Amino acid sequence: MSQRKLPSGLHRETLAVRAGVGASQYGENSEALYLTSSFTQPDSETAARRFAGEEEGYIYSRFTNPTVASMEQRLAALEGMEAAIGTSSGMSAILLLCMGLLKAGDHVVCSQSVFGSTIKLIAGEFGKFGVRSTFVSQTDVAQWRAAIVPETRLLFAETPTNPLTDVCDIQALADVAPQRGSAAGRRQLSLHAGAAAARAVRCRHRDPLGTKYLDGQGRVVAGALVGPRQLIADKFIPSCAAPACACRPSMPGWCSRAWRRWASAWKRSRSGPWSWRSGCNRIRASSASIYPGLESHPQHALAMAQQSGRGGAVVSFDVRAADPGAARRNAFNVVDSTQLLSVTANLGDVKTIITHPPAPRTAA
Ligand SMILES: *Cc1c(COP(=O)(O)O)cnc(C)c1O
Repeated sequence: MSQRKLPSGLHRETLAVRAGVGASQYGENSEALYLTSSFTQPDSETAARRFAGEEEGYIYSRFTNPTVASMEQRLAALEGMEAAIGTSSGMSAILLLCMGLLKAGDHVVCSQSVFGSTIKLIAGEFGKFGVRSTFVSQTDVAQWRAAIVPETRLLFAETPTNPLTDVCDIQALADVAPQRGSAAGRRQLSLHAGAAAARAVRCRHRDPLGTKYLDGQGRVVAGALVGPRQLIADKFIPSCAAPACACRPSMPGWCSRAWRRWASAWKRSRSGPWSWRSGCNRIRASSASIYPGLESHPQHALAMAQQSGRGGAVVSFDVRAADPGAARRNAFNVVDSTQLLSVTANLGDVKTIITHPPAPRTAA
C-alpha cells in the first residue's frame, strides 16, 4: 500500500508521527481515521483486479484499511524492519504466526514460561491439528538446542515473560536456529512481547504487543507481526483475512494518539533555548532569524523572565533577497525545498510546520 516518502536517518520520535500512508486528497496534516468496513470501487473491472490481487487498492477492512496500514508502516519503521501486519489482538498475532509457519507434522520449541493462553494455543489447539511441541527452560539455551528435531519449524520465546518476567537471551536463541537449520530446511525464531528488548537483535519476526504498550493507556486490544517484507507477504498476509485476525481500524487511532503524545513530550524536552539556539545559528548563516530564545531578539530578557526561560516553539526568519519579488521567490524556495516539514498553517503540532505568511510591512 502507498507509503509516505521520508528522508533517511530520522529520530524514532519523528517516525512515530510521520511514518505511514500519505494524506488523502484533502491533505490533512493530522491522521485521518478510516472507520469504514468497505471501500467503494470505481468500476467492476477495477474491483475484479483488486479482488484478484492484481492491483493495489482498498476493498474491505478485514483485508486492508489505510488506518491499519499506517500503523503497520509505522511499527515496521520503529522496529527497523521492512513490514508489519496488524492483528485484532496479541493472541491473534500468535495464531497468525503459527498458521503462517506451521502445518501438520511440524514441531515447535517453546519456552515453558510464556503466557498461559500461548501454551494452550500451541500445545492444545495446534496439537489437535498434528503440530508437536516441546517446552523448555526460558533461560537455558542448551535445552533449546537439544529440543530441536528435523521437523522443528518454530522457536517461540517471549521476553520478558508475562507474568514472571523471565528474560531470555534473544541473540543466543537467534544463534541456535540457523546453526541447526541446514538439514531440515528453514527455521524461524519468533520473539514476542517486550518489543523494546527485541530491537536490534537478529530474529526473523517479532510481535510487539498492541494491547499493552502501543497505547499504554489500556484502551486498545491489538497486535502485530513485524518482519521482512517477503515473509509477511508470503506467509502471513494470505492467512490473515479468512480467520478475521485483521486489526480493527478503530484501534490504531488510539495508538496514534499515544505516539503523538510521546513525540510531543520529547519535542518539549528539547525545545529549551539551547537546542533552538543552535538551529537558529545555522539558519542565521543565510538569513535573519527571529526567536525570543536568542540574545539578538529585542525582548529576549523579558521573554526569558516571563516564559520560564524558554523561547517557545516558533522561529521566524527573513530570507535575504535583492528586491521584494526575489524575496518572495527565495522564501517559497526555502519552504518548498524542506524534506520533512508540513507546509501548512498552525503551530504547537508534533509535526513541525513551515509556512510563509505574507508579513504586512509598514513603510520605513
Ligand atoms: C497480553 C498478552 C498476550 C495476549 O494479548 P491479547 O491482546 O490479550 O490477545 C499474549 N502474550 C503476552 C505475553 C501478553 O502479555
